[in-house]
Amino acid sequence: MTQVISDILQRAADGGRITPEEALLLYLEAPLHPLGEAADAVRRRRYPDNVVTYLIDRNINYTNVCVTACKFCAFYRAPKHSEGWSHPMEEILRRCGEAVDLGATQVMLQGGHHPDFGVEYYENLFSSVKQAYPQLVIHSIGPSEILHMARVSSVSIEEAVRRIKAAGLDSIAGAGAEMLPARPRTAIAPLKESGERWLEVMEVAHGLGVESTATMMMGTGETAAERIEHLRMIRDVQDRTGGFRSFIPWTYQPENNHLKGRTQATTLEYLRLVAVARLFFETVPHLQSSWLTTGKDVGQLSLHMGVDDLGSIMLEENVISSAGARHRSNLHELISLIRSADRIPAQRDTLYNRLAVHWTPDDDPSDERVVSHFSSIALPGGGAGKSLPLVDAR
Ligand code: SF4
Repeated sequence: MTQVISDILQRAADGGRITPEEALLLYLEAPLHPLGEAADAVRRRRYPDNVVTYLIDRNINYTNVCVTACKFCAFYRAPKHSEGWSHPMEEILRRCGEAVDLGATQVMLQGGHHPDFGVEYYENLFSSVKQAYPQLVIHSIGPSEILHMARVSSVSIEEAVRRIKAAGLDSIAGAGAEMLPARPRTAIAPLKESGERWLEVMEVAHGLGVESTATMMMGTGETAAERIEHLRMIRDVQDRTGGFRSFIPWTYQPENNHLKGRTQATTLEYLRLVAVARLFFETVPHLQSSWLTTGKDVGQLSLHMGVDDLGSIMLEENVISSAGARHRSNLHELISLIRSADRIPAQRDTLYNRLAVHWTPDDDPSDERVVSHFSSIALPGGGAGKSLPLVDAR
């Protein structure tokens, strides 16, 4: 390891800021173990009690109809397509009720850009869910949906955000970030808003008191420099707003979409990016890995590369699963992955408040119904209500 790399790692591990150029140097050239050690040192300083969190939530899709036709998406259907659907409110509420029964604290309402769905649709959606289940946090949609609804209703971004916040939206999901730099974004989602516009919506929302997460989809042919540029674009907004609670990188899934090909992000590239993100985002409190797309083993390994959150059980997930993500888990197993990585598991809520810390296996919850893809249209046979063999973590 060169002295230059060693000095950058030390500064970052101590909480100092690194430049995008230094982040790229670390990403490309830092030896894996010192890189992971530095990232883990940052995690330990932030969370000295060694707790790693998880969440119970359900991703509920209200429509798969979409006019934006992203090349990497296996979920959407064009308007008038015979396989297009939109769920009635009763079905959405029924799924929310099931989620509450299984201990979910959050719903992620997520859908395509339906040509008829303006701000009024989302106001009705969020207020109906809030009225029926006030205990559920609505962490939903993303900047792309906000721009779409504002366009359909001919209102400003500010007005759209104010109205859906008043209707019950608690937090904006980081969805739709994909790759923010122009070249890779245009290549995979030519009809989507620019990365700058995606960030502009987030900045407006943060200014109006609606916080969010930020994501990144790796593996569609972007360069290492473009991956780091994605991080820089997010950090610049974070410097002004402080509204991103966490960063969540995940990997492209190649089935059933127009882009096809393969995931062009290896396990090592993923883990290195995770570690660099922890070092680069000294202003973003949480770092979540994506066991759904990378697999549970990689998810567990990421806990040694600076990650402090293993994400959600996801009682339902259809969007990424439609593109081939087949990894599934359950409450016992997720807790076991965290504990056997020498971390203390804890259930959190959307704001990362710890709801239950499982200091010892005796503290573990025992609800065997809490499985990922409790319901999923993306699984063979529809998935709804299918039981999953459980792994005994005790
Ligand atoms: S990723 Fe979202 S915006 Fe793009 S086609 Fe799929 S549903 Fe539509």
